[in-house]
Amino acid sequence: MSNERRPLVAGNWKMHGSRAANTALLDAVVARLGKLDIDVLVCPPFVYLAEIAQRLAGTTIALGAQSLCVEPVGAFTGEVSASMLKDVGCGYVLVGHSERRSLFHEDNGVVARKFAAAQAEGLVPILCVGESLVERQGEHTFAIIREQLDAVIQLAGISAFANAVVAYEPVWAIGTGLTATPEQAQAVHAFIRGHLSHQDANVASALRILYGGSVKGNNAAELFAMPDVDGGLVGGAALKADEFLQICAAANRS
Ligand code: PEP
Repeated sequence: MSNERRPLVAGNWKMHGSRAANTALLDAVVARLGKLDIDVLVCPPFVYLAEIAQRLAGTTIALGAQSLCVEPVGAFTGEVSASMLKDVGCGYVLVGHSERRSLFHEDNGVVARKFAAAQAEGLVPILCVGESLVERQGEHTFAIIREQLDAVIQLAGISAFANAVVAYEPVWAIGTGLTATPEQAQAVHAFIRGHLSHQDANVASALRILYGGSVKGNNAAELFAMPDVDGGLVGGAALKADEFLQICAAANRS
């Protein structure tokens, strides 16, 4: 982690939670988080956002959503717009999570439009990129990630990355218990920063790049020690207060 970029830990709750479970989890996290020199946010399912925004008021924990609609308003049954997320207190939104890409067929074009839709309402998009196991084994990792980044650069421009976060999430490491080694993560993070820096070195050096993929309390510190790893996007471990707090503490130290 570098001294110039403030670490960030984001918890992606996916489709987990209940009003009672959310309260218990957040009560435990808020009570023990303490004063850390990092940004922390949670991304609960849509239906809980407004209630959780109230719970987090007066705390240092920010709120994010897990997805959004590409369109600003209208006849899009089942969708949620960027302005609605802003209205209920979100500051961030995930775009291009691998589960959205693979299970809901969101391609690079859709992800880029979601990124732009988020920024149009002042939300900070967390752009998730990453390769599958087959792509890694075929040595296509950098090509895949370049395409995922370029789709967004083409639509939104490189300057848009000044108000965004990128999360490198190797698909083979998400929810599998397999974690990229710190060296594997660093190599891809350095590639992402290098690729963006060809277009704007200042934007690239200020950009926070998170690692996601089976981050746990016991592996976070070594990942966050890498120079281009600026924190974590955390799934399963974000649902356990002890684990999440350990990960936040590791980000604070590195
Ligand atoms: C995620 O949901 O983005 C994620 C990285 O999940 P996990 O930490 O469970 O691998």
